[in-house]
This record gives sequence, structure tokens and C-alpha cells, in this order.
Amino acid sequence: MIIRLNAGNKEDLPFSFIVPCNELDISSDGTLYLGDAKVEGKLVFLGEDYVTEGAITIRKSFLCDRCLKEVEKEVKIDFSEKFSREESDDSTLFTGDEIDLTEVVRDIVLAAEPISHLCKEECKGLCKICGKDLNEGECGCDRFIADPRFSILQDYRIDD
Ligand SMILES: [Zn+2]
Ligand SMILES: [Zn+2]
Repeated sequence: MIIRLNAGNKEDLPFSFIVPCNELDISSDGTLYLGDAKVEGKLVFLGEDYVTEGAITIRKSFLCDRCLKEVEKEVKIDFSEKFSREESDDSTLFTGDEIDLTEVVRDIVLAAEPISHLCKEECKGLCKICGKDLNEGECGCDRFIADPRFSILQDYRIDD
């Protein structure tokens, strides 16, 4: 994902890349990225530095943390990243007349990973007693636990 800078050009420069997700090396145990990532946006010249603004569109597959169902979802991640020829805290260093977006896109996708993966925000999860998917309806189990100490234990689980 290389943007070539044209020394004379001060206009915004649009870019569009299609990159196979496996080349980006972003999949982890919990999340599998599928097919191609689409990276679109524009490069804005700021005098000395550059800013890339755009969006990454990407498909991922994961198991819902609550109901354990496999989910495939397309996500769009907006980004804005500054590039500079001089080292600084708020920008990415580049040299020569090329800006390579690959590392930046990889970092943005990884940083956008949510802490919990849910099929939908209001997923009801599985019944802790019979295992039924509560999104499909009530099972009739009595899941009410009177002693709060037990309810803490009940919610305790180990994620790997
Ligand atoms: Zn779910
Ligand atoms: Zn049940």
C-alpha cells in the first residue's frame, strides 16, 4: 500500500487499495479476517507533513462471547494518520517520496478490535443451566440466584 508523492503536487491525492487480509497478518485466535481489506481515502499535503484520511473496510469472523455462535461481520474503520519526515510522537516517520500505509493499516485494525465480541449488542447468551440459546426464546430454567456471592461465582469465567 504505497502512495507515491509527487514533489510538485500540493493537491489532495486520492488512494484506494485492495489487500488480502492474510498479507496484513491481522488474524488472531479469536478473530479471523476474511478476503480482502479495502483501504480508501486521500492524502492531504500540510506544508511539510502529510495526513492520510480514509476508511478501512474489512470482513471478520468470530465466535460470540455470549452465545458462542459464529458471526461474520463487515466493519468499517475510519482513520486519520499523520506522516512526517521527522520523528515525532503524533506521526509516522517516512523517508524518500513514498508513504507506505501497510503497517499503519495493520495497527489501526488491531487497535479497533473490541474487548468483547458479540453477535449483537443485546445478545442474551446461553442459559447457564441447560445451555439453550436465549436469543431463540426462554427455556424455563430458574436462573435466579439469591445469594450475591454465588452470582459473582456464576459470572466468573476464564477467557483464554
Ligand atoms: Zn451472541
Ligand atoms: Zn435453561
